Amino acid sequence: MDSRERDVLDKHIKRSQEGYSALGKHVVEQKMCNYCGACVSVCPKGSITMGAESPQLTGECNACGICYLACPRTFLPMTSMQQWLFDTDEIPPLGTYKQATLASSNSEKIMEHSPDGGIVTTLFTYMLDHKLVDAVITSGKQHECTWCYHPKPRAVTDSGDLLECIDRKYDPNPLLSILKDTTGFAKVAFAGLACHVLGLKKLQYAARMYREELPAFAKISDRLTRNIDFVVGIGCMCRMGKGAWDVMLKEVGVDSEDQVVRHLEERISGDYVFELPDGSEARVPHTRIIEDPHHMCFLCCDYDGYFSDLTIDRSEFQPYSTVLLRNEKAEDMFSRCLEKKLLHTREIPHKGADFVEDMAPMLKSLVEFDTYGYENFLKTGKFSIDPTMQQMMSHFEERRMRGIPENIFLELLKKYPQFEFAKKKRAELGYENPDFI
Ligand code: SF4
Ligand code: SF4
Ligand code: SF4
Repeated sequence: MDSRERDVLDKHIKRSQEGYSALGKHVVEQKMCNYCGACVSVCPKGSITMGAESPQLTGECNACGICYLACPRTFLPMTSMQQWLFDTDEIPPLGTYKQATLASSNSEKIMEHSPDGGIVTTLFTYMLDHKLVDAVITSGKQHECTWCYHPKPRAVTDSGDLLECIDRKYDPNPLLSILKDTTGFAKVAFAGLACHVLGLKKLQYAARMYREELPAFAKISDRLTRNIDFVVGIGCMCRMGKGAWDVMLKEVGVDSEDQVVRHLEERISGDYVFELPDGSEARVPHTRIIEDPHHMCFLCCDYDGYFSDLTIDRSEFQPYSTVLLRNEKAEDMFSRCLEKKLLHTREIPHKGADFVEDMAPMLKSLVEFDTYGYENFLKTGKFSIDPTMQQMMSHFEERRMRGIPENIFLELLKKYPQFEFAKKKRAELGYENPDFI
């Protein structure tokens, strides 16, 4: 542990002595919670539950401070985690990876349900069917309809049940709250958004690195995560605010998610298209989607699940997903599925790197502009999107980028107008920021 991490750790150990109130004061009240659910799983008293928007203390607190220390929005030793997993201090664009490819499932059943390449379902089906894992943790759905946009954490032990977990879910999901219920499985695979992967990997890091300084925290982290053997990160730009998705559906005449027969997200335009029972289409333009972002996403420092074994992201080549294989374990699992002809691949293009390079200064300059109206959110609780964002979106439509350059472009688009701007504005207005070091 270097001196910087030592100082940050000391600061947070001190704060954690206030128990749950430290979490309430420095994370929830500071509008920093990303609804990951880690605090629910780590509390040794079982005293935290997830409320509609944030965790709540619903039982006795012995001020052990573990919820505060475990929270990925208090501090994240990103450099040390990168060193631990990839033996280097630098996190390159999209994170460290050994191979990138486009891939799609060969299963008709999976592809019938999947809006993308069906890679997670295919990998997890293989792992469960061959007893490589006993369970997989993923996002299930709250409602019994084909396209349920309301997720809930789910542990699946039978590959047949994975089909129910495929579709997109836009509401925040406290996925890590399920860790407390999955310790009985010997080996588990996990798929979550970048923020879930950060929370999970913080616990795995703490289990190894904080045994001496923080033995109780390390012990609980170890108990919750030692069985997690394979981690899939799902690339993510932003979620919508609580309830915003339902409002948006109603605006285009979809009264309930039950009505949706098929859902497509157009990769280039970013529009969402819903097929309705009478064969007609309802379309939500991308400009509407970004009017109601979730505030938690503005403090997100990871676009692609940097610390996962394997990252899945969408690609403009439907029905292929972009796959980043980050280590040998991922390469091995992926090639087994290829050998069994469960997946097929196509070469990933690298087109438009020069365009991204040219655009980079403009994207970086967005750290100076309140593109989403984040200041308004901090002051009034509501975002107010700037037309600059609409202009930026037109660059997607020009289709100048393909493959990895496009993913890097999206990462920059998240990093500067969202993350870096939010940190700057928060500091100006007297809000705290997480210590991502
Ligand atoms: S983890 Fe510890 S500090 Fe947090 S609520 Fe539970 S008992 Fe209290
Ligand atoms: S970010 Fe996660 S761990 Fe932190 S308070 Fe929110 S739900 Fe709990
Ligand atoms: S943008 Fe980040 S915080 Fe928001 S849902 Fe995606 S991974 Fe989580």
